[in-house]
Amino acid sequence: MSQIDHIVISPYAVFVIETKNYSGWIFGSEDSEYWVQSFRKKKVRFRNPIKQNWGHVYALQEALPEYKRVPFHSIIVFTGSGLLKNVNTTTDVTYDNHLYDTIIGYEEDIENITAEDMELIANKLKEITITDEIAREQHIKQIRSNIENTQTKIRAMICPKCGGTLAKRSGPYGEFYGCSSYPKCRYKTKLGSPN
Ligand SMILES: [Zn+2]
Repeated sequence: MSQIDHIVISPYAVFVIETKNYSGWIFGSEDSEYWVQSFRKKKVRFRNPIKQNWGHVYALQEALPEYKRVPFHSIIVFTGSGLLKNVNTTTDVTYDNHLYDTIIGYEEDIENITAEDMELIANKLKEITITDEIAREQHIKQIRSNIENTQTKIRAMICPKCGGTLAKRSGPYGEFYGCSSYPKCRYKTKLGSPN
């Protein structure tokens, strides 16, 4: 199962678009395992979106075996207020307001996909999406039931991570529940918003 953000079918190529909504400064390279978001003096790692999107491109190519000759291009789009600081990549990494230009930049490859093929690809993808909708519903149900289980445990003051007991604590950002097995288990949750 693959969750692709957006697909654009053009006469030049099929574009597989991964969108990221991040603030702060973004650092990353083509091949590293993780990229870094630097925000309010904190550094947070996230999975290299280029590598993540290659998985999506691969899944899409597998789903469209009759279009092996069609080029698939990966584009990573940042939609938040994040600034790409030191991002050196061969894959397109851009901002949402440059997405159109990025796609149009491929227009010299205009002969690649005929209008008929564009429609066939679109229809094939619609079919796949419909089947996936049932799977997606089950997936959402599973997530909901996990959240419910977690909430039930927290109400009973049981740590959802290790099964230990939770204790009310207070820190610089207010009151929270923390696992009494700390530091062995670092689970904590804000009062009223378990996650
Ligand atoms: Zn615990």
